Amino acid sequence: MTESEPERISHPEHDHNQCIRNAISVAEQLCLSRGVQLTPIRHKILELIWNSHKAVKAYDLLDQIRPVNDAAKPSTVYRALDFLLEQGLIHRVESLNAFVGCHCSGTQHDQLLLICTACHTVEERAAPDVLSALSTELSGAGFVPQRKTIEIHGLCKSCKPAATAASEKDDEH
Ligand SMILES: [Zn+2]
Ligand SMILES: [Zn+2]
Ligand SMILES: [Zn+2]
Repeated sequence: MTESEPERISHPEHDHNQCIRNAISVAEQLCLSRGVQLTPIRHKILELIWNSHKAVKAYDLLDQIRPVNDAAKPSTVYRALDFLLEQGLIHRVESLNAFVGCHCSGTQHDQLLLICTACHTVEERAAPDVLSALSTELSGAGFVPQRKTIEIHGLCKSCKPAATAASEKDDEH
């Protein structure tokens, strides 16, 4: 399995075809090694989610899959999504009720998701320091988390300059 570089993920100039190829090949290998089926519909849904780094809603996936599979029903899409979540190939973005591909698939893991409110790109960060500080806080509270996902809404690197140019005169002068 190749190591992904989280820093690159939100750069619009990166080779996104490479992201898709990596994601699909990791998924195929994982499913093979776990003895689970990456059926055509699961494969297609994963591919559609990886179309970009933006979070995708289930009904958008349904709209996109109907032209190629007119028998697809909402339940078909939800079952495929459940499978991909279970296998750790995608993440649910709770605050948007949407899904995004995981570029470090293979194990279930906690994560920090940076969600851009302008372009809807979701950048996943492993953020070990943040998550370990959070673990300390939780154990101090005697709280046992089932999973830890931190979702932060704001502006990504690409959107920030345009959106804040008026208010951040110091940046360029
Ligand atoms: Zn990409
Ligand atoms: Zn992940
Ligand atoms: Zn953005």
